[in-house]
Amino acid sequence: MAQRTTDYYKVLGVGKNASDDEIKKAYRRLARQYHPDRNPGDKQAEERFKEISQAHDVLSDAEKRKAYDRGASPFGGLGGSGGFDPGAFSGGFGDILSNLFGGGGGGAEAGGRGGVRGGRPREARGRDLETEVSLSFDQAVHGAQVPLAVPTSQPCPTCKGTGARPGTSPKVCPVCEGRGIESQSQGIFSISQPCSNCQGTGTIIEDPCPTCGGSGAQRSVRRLRVNIPAGVRDGSRIRLAGKGEAGVRGAEPGDLYVITRVSESPVFKWVGDNLEVEVPLTIPEAVRGAVIEVPTLNGSKRLRVPRGTKHGTVQRLRGEGPPRLGGKAHGDIRYRFVIDVPSSLSPEQLEAVDRLSEVMNGNPRAKLFAGAGSSS
Ligand SMILES: [Zn+2]
Ligand SMILES: [Zn+2]
Repeated sequence: MAQRTTDYYKVLGVGKNASDDEIKKAYRRLARQYHPDRNPGDKQAEERFKEISQAHDVLSDAEKRKAYDRGASPFGGLGGSGGFDPGAFSGGFGDILSNLFGGGGGGAEAGGRGGVRGGRPREARGRDLETEVSLSFDQAVHGAQVPLAVPTSQPCPTCKGTGARPGTSPKVCPVCEGRGIESQSQGIFSISQPCSNCQGTGTIIEDPCPTCGGSGAQRSVRRLRVNIPAGVRDGSRIRLAGKGEAGVRGAEPGDLYVITRVSESPVFKWVGDNLEVEVPLTIPEAVRGAVIEVPTLNGSKRLRVPRGTKHGTVQRLRGEGPPRLGGKAHGDIRYRFVIDVPSSLSPEQLEAVDRLSEVMNGNPRAKLFAGAGSSS
C-alpha cells in the first residue's frame, strides 16, 4: 500500500489559517455526514469518520495544533516516517520526558531507533521558562538588579539524557518498533496514536541510569542576576532571550520570561503612565497659600500652593514620574491637594475657629436658594 500522509487541514477541508470556529464547524458538518450511525456497514465512511475526529482532536487544541504545525509531516501513515513528535501528544507542556527525548532525540543517539528514515530532526530548542520576581516600588521605578533562582532541568550528565545506565542503551520499543506511535490500518486509512508501551518515546529503558533514575533529566536551580528596567509595573513580562532551558544536545536554548510583582507604594499611586500623590494642606495653608515640600522619586521638591487653593486641586511636576517603558520619556507626578480637616481641636484652636467664624459670617449657600422660590 502506498505511503500516505494525512493532512488534517485537508481532512477537514479548511485552510491552514482556519479559525477555531471554522474548524469546529467543518468538523461538525463532516462528522454528521460520515457518522457510522448514518452509514451502517460502510467501512470507508467509518474510517473517514475516525480520521475527521482525529483531525479535530488535534486542530481544536491550541497546543496540539501548534505542535502539529511545527512538526510538519503529521502521522506518517502506514510507513510511519519520523517527524511527528509524540511528545506533543503527551499533553505536557513542561513534560521533561517529551522535551528531552520525545521523538527521535535520545533514541537516535542511543543508536537504537528504527523508523527514522526520512525523518526530519525534531524540534530540540530548549523550553521557555517563566518565573516571578517580587520588587519593591522603588526597585520597579528605578530599575534594579535582582537575583533569580529558576528551577530548570537539563540532560542528566551521567547518561547524557538517554536515561539508560552508562554502557547500556535504551532498547527499541518492541510494540512500536521505535516509532513512538502505534498505527492501525484499515482500508486505505491509518489511525495513529502515541505508543502506550513506551509513552511515545520509542525506547524502553531496562537498566535505568542511577543518577536520574531513567528520566534522563537532572533537576537543577539556575541562579542568575537579572537587570529589571526602570518603570516596570505589577505584571510586566520581561523576556530574556536564550536564558531558558538548554536545548537538547547544543540546540538553541529557550527564553526566560520574568513576570514582575511590584508592591504598592504607600505614597505614590499609578494613574496611567503617571503617579499621583495625595497632599494634605492645613486650612490656613489652603486659605493663605504656602510653599510646601512634596515627595518625588528622588527625594523632594518644593511646590508653591497658591492662596485660596481648593480641595482636590492638582498640581503637576512634569517628567518627575518613572520612565515610560521602551522610551526615554518620563511620566509626571500629580499632586492632589486635600484640605486636612481636624476631627478634634484643642481649646486654643477651638477659640481661633470661633473667632474665624465670627469674621467669615457670610452664607456661602445663599446662592443655592437664590433662584428657588423667589422667581416672582
Ligand atoms: Zn541519567
Ligand atoms: Zn513504543
